[in-house]
Amino acid sequence: MASPLTAGQLLAALRSEGVTVKTPHTGWTTHERDEATGKPFGPVHGVLIHHTAAHGDYEVVYTGNSALPGPRAHAYITKAGEALMCSAGRANHAGGGDPDVLNAVIDESYTSRPPATHYGEGDAGAADGNDCFYGYECENLGDGQDPWPRVQYVAMIKAAAAILRHYGWSEKSCIGHLEWSDQKIDPRGFDMVTFRADVNACLARPAGEWGAPPADQGGEDPMPKYVNLGAAEVTLKPGQDWTTLVFTTEWTDETGDHATGGSVFAKGAARFTGELNLQLSGLPAGSQLQVRQSEYDSQGAHVQDHPVGEVIGTPGDTFGKVPITGRLASGRQMRIRVKAFENAPVKITGAVLKVLVWKEN
Ligand SMILES: [Zn+2]
Repeated sequence: MASPLTAGQLLAALRSEGVTVKTPHTGWTTHERDEATGKPFGPVHGVLIHHTAAHGDYEVVYTGNSALPGPRAHAYITKAGEALMCSAGRANHAGGGDPDVLNAVIDESYTSRPPATHYGEGDAGAADGNDCFYGYECENLGDGQDPWPRVQYVAMIKAAAAILRHYGWSEKSCIGHLEWSDQKIDPRGFDMVTFRADVNACLARPAGEWGAPPADQGGEDPMPKYVNLGAAEVTLKPGQDWTTLVFTTEWTDETGDHATGGSVFAKGAARFTGELNLQLSGLPAGSQLQVRQSEYDSQGAHVQDHPVGEVIGTPGDTFGKVPITGRLASGRQMRIRVKAFENAPVKITGAVLKVLVWKEN
C-alpha cells in the first residue's frame, strides 16, 4: 500500500530529479478534492500524463470551475519546463478508466502498452483514477501540431520519474490519459511507448542526471562514433514483404553495437546521422524501392517504423542514397528494411551504410 507523498515530499522528489518547481499558489499544499468528495487520495498506483488543450491555463487547472472543480492535476508543466504546483491530494484529472488497465499498471505486467481501455468516465464498472493516480497537466494545444519543446518534455519525464523513483516503480506505472479512458485522446504529439522508454532511461541514472545537455555535465560535446557496414546481396521478390538488410561486412564499428552478421546498426540511447548507399539491378526506370528505419526493443520485438525514404529506378543499374537519421531511447535498436513495388525481382547488389553515432548516457 503506497501512501501519497506529503506536499513536502512531492516537492523534494521533483527537485532532486532536477525539475524546476514553482508555487504560484501557496495554498496548494492543502488544495485537494478529498474533503469535498469524501474519498481520500490513495493508496497510489501510478502517474497519468495529460495535455491541457490550451496555452497559459494554469489558473484553470488550479481552480477549475463548477463543472469540474480544481485541482485538476498535481502539477501543471509549462512549455518552458516549469512545474507549477496544484495539489498533493486528490485531484480531478483522471476520472473513470479501465480496471484491467489499473491492474496492469499495479502489476507492471504489460510489455510496451497496457491493455486497450474499454472504460471511461461515467461507465458502470469503471475504476476511479482520481483515487490512485498522480496527474500532470502539460501545456499543449493537443492538436497534434503544437510542438513539445525539449525542455518541457524533459521536465515531464523527470516529473514522472520523481514519483516512480520514490515508490520504486518502473516506467510501466506511468501511462497516458488515453491509455486510461476510452473517452480521451491526451497526450497527443508523442507516443507513450517512447515516453516510457525515456522514463526508463531517466530512472536508470541517479536522480537529476538524465536529460542535461552535454555542456551542463561539465564536458565537451562527445566525439561521434563511426559505423561503416556493408549488407549482403539480396533479391527482393515480387510481392515480398519488408526485408531486413543484414550487414555481413563490418569495416568500422566504433560503438560495438553491430553484432557480426547482424542487422542492428545502432542501439539506444543514441542519436545518429548518415546515409545508406544502394546499388540495385532489376529496378525499372521510374519505379521505387522504399527504405525505412525500423525500431525494435531489447527483446527484438518490432516497436515502430520511421518515415520511409525511396530510391527511384534509372535505366541500367540504379544508384541511390537514403539519409539515415534518428534518435533511439535506451533499450531500443535500429534496423533498415527495404521493399520493392515491382512485378519483377529487384536485386540489391551493393548496400553501404555510413553513420556517425552519438551515444547518450
Ligand atoms: Zn487528460
